[in-house]
Parts: sequence; structure tokens; C-alpha cells
Amino acid sequence: MWNARDAETIRARLTEEEELRRAAADYEGLACARCFKPGNTVTLRRHLIKEHGVAKPDVKDGIVMKIDFSAFRVQRKGRTP
Ligand SMILES: [Zn+2]
Repeated sequence: MWNARDAETIRARLTEEEELRRAAADYEGLACARCFKPGNTVTLRRHLIKEHGVAKPDVKDGIVMKIDFSAFRVQRKGRTP
């Protein structure tokens, strides 16, 4: 069942998602686990090395999913080449 709080949470998430998508041309729904900078695996690995001094960035340690994968797929639908 949906309630007002769920709706608010999802609306906030979608707004955040939209902002992130605009912020990064190659947005893939990922973010730095340390400072939540948005990006994808390529840009975030580079970011972890440069900004956080991580010698061998691991997706599990340094990069987190910013949004639900299901929401990500819905948004990408129709845009994927
Ligand atoms: Zn970071």
C-alpha cells in the first residue's frame, strides 16, 4: 500500500535523480560512497584515485547506487540506443 510518506519519498528521489541526470552527461545512477559525487564507474574510479587517494578503487567499497535499479531502468526505457 502507498501512503503519503512513500509518495513524498519517491517524489524526492525522482527530483534528485533528475538533478543528477542533468549534472552528468553520462549519468549511470552511481555515486561516490564517500562524498556522494554522482557519476559512473569510469568517472568515479578516477575520482576516488584523485580526490580520496584510493590506489585501487573497488565498486563495492567506493561506489554506491544512487537510486533504485528498478527506477533507473524505468527512466532509461526508450532512451537506450
Ligand atoms: Zn568522493
